[in-house]
Amino acid sequence: MTPSPHDEPIPTEGPSDFIREKIDADLAAGRFDRVQTRFPPEPNGYLHIGHAKSICLNFGLAEQYGGPCLLRFDDTNPVAEDPEYVDAIIDDIRWLGFEPTDVVHASDYFDQLYAWAEELVGKGLAYVDDQDAETISAQRGGFGEPGIESPFRDRTPEENLGLLRQMRDGAFADGEKVLRAKIDMSASVMTMRDPVLYRIRRLPHHRTEDRWVIYPTYDWAHGQSDAIEGVTHSLCTLEFADHRPLYDWCLEHLELPNDRPEQTEFARLGLTHTVMSKRLLRQLVEDGVVDGWDDPRMPTIRGMRKRGYPPEAIRAFIDEIGVAKTNSTVEIELLESHVRRHHNAHALRRMAVLDPVKVVITNWPEGQVEHVEAVNNPEDDAAGTRQVPFSGELWIERDDFMADPPPKYYRLTPGREVRLRAGYFITATDAVTDADGNVTEIHATYDPETKGGQAPDGRKVKATIHWVSAAHAEDLTVHLYERLFTDSHPGAEGDAFDSLNPASRETVEAKGEPALADVAPGEVVQFERLGYFAVDPDDTRTLHRTVGLRDEWANIQKRKSK
Ligand code: ATP
Ligand code: MG
Repeated sequence: MTPSPHDEPIPTEGPSDFIREKIDADLAAGRFDRVQTRFPPEPNGYLHIGHAKSICLNFGLAEQYGGPCLLRFDDTNPVAEDPEYVDAIIDDIRWLGFEPTDVVHASDYFDQLYAWAEELVGKGLAYVDDQDAETISAQRGGFGEPGIESPFRDRTPEENLGLLRQMRDGAFADGEKVLRAKIDMSASVMTMRDPVLYRIRRLPHHRTEDRWVIYPTYDWAHGQSDAIEGVTHSLCTLEFADHRPLYDWCLEHLELPNDRPEQTEFARLGLTHTVMSKRLLRQLVEDGVVDGWDDPRMPTIRGMRKRGYPPEAIRAFIDEIGVAKTNSTVEIELLESHVRRHHNAHALRRMAVLDPVKVVITNWPEGQVEHVEAVNNPEDDAAGTRQVPFSGELWIERDDFMADPPPKYYRLTPGREVRLRAGYFITATDAVTDADGNVTEIHATYDPETKGGQAPDGRKVKATIHWVSAAHAEDLTVHLYERLFTDSHPGAEGDAFDSLNPASRETVEAKGEPALADVAPGEVVQFERLGYFAVDPDDTRTLHRTVGLRDEWANIQKRKSK
């Protein structure tokens, strides 16, 4: 795996936000003399755009403050973890433009975590509970209502140590015993009511195989892993705010190799018209709603990548939304606007016809083929020009012709002259229709004086349409995507899947100009007048619509400011 090249450097000057203010204050006060962060995904699925926010934040801070940022796989729960996800996560982070200082696994620390558990037991701060999960949960109490202490809470440290070792050595069945911290069953923060630290689970682990039958919980593993690595600022999403007292409690009671890290929470990213939880994303894949985790309709990094979203646009989007302390759902149009802005500057222009109908130019010299010069990218002179073959039979879009047009229809219609982009002016004469009245062929004449799309007498036309020479056309399969969910906030009321858009993908057979053969797999082109399209990484004749040309974000902004 090599990191992908990026033409825009990652900004080293970060924006200001409450996390950066806190870090600056910590450094000024001497609380820390360095900054270290981490990105801690659980390898139980593919990364999505929400994770990208955390990646940009953690790697971005490390870069800004000149410290390390480790990628740590939080692989403490073997149930859903898979090495397939590990490789994909590393690859996606690199694709976003970040390089972890090191790649580590929470499972690397199982020995140390266990040793600390014995330390806690020795201090009388943890006990083995024989009750099952249901009973423990029923005893937790509620808000304003204290929990019930376990009858096993007052076991001696010696007894607990013996039992913990037996748990480790496989003397008990799954679920028969757990190790719990002995904190406070009437604590106002529920996570402090004697949380479970270890559970018995006879499951092979993708790294430690069958060495362990007990696994630490998130709460026992996370802060200590941070401390082992020397993390200073442990950033997580808001739902972990309630775990912070426990995070601190665990660290306060242990001999640590490094300064005690601090947890700070920030808002999760939500996007309109999509879901972000791995559980729902997995369901989309398993139910066959989408083709896989890399389906271009998915909010996964893989999906966005296949769809032609460039990493620069994703990072610019995340920079723009910033980090805040309240959860919000961001309009997907803002992300699309960043994607469009990037491609407008960088994408090659090409012509393709998605719903082709033939035009026969009746005064074109029989069998003649000419080439016209077309600009590759009006935003970038260095992109140069290309030669596009022009002949007497062309494909144009079906809706660029109407035999009997309504008022204000300025495209091709009998008697009307239009410009063929970079080609000639043509005037439609008549059209052939089938028994159902569908146009099957349009007849037109061209003006030989208008090559390149300019008339020497300066006369104007009201429309310019795109085209492809029929004899030279490449057959293409083009996937057109719409929102995966019709609701802007799927699942806000009821089941998210109720608002699945049955028409989220339409596939058409299209005609493209020969220069599309120059476009590399994975690259994005602008089809003139249609939008941006990404060439499929495995099949250069298949393209995915990245985004249309119209900036809907601008319209949303206008509506909002009214
Ligand atoms: P999910 O709920 O989708 O399974 P998760 O939080 O369980 O997500 P992890 O793999 O545990 O996923 O997350 C790795 C890191 O990414 C965590 O620090 C988590 O807080 C962060 N993260 C996950 N989703 C988002 C999001 N939508 N916005 C910002 N950060 C996120
Ligand atoms: Mg998780």
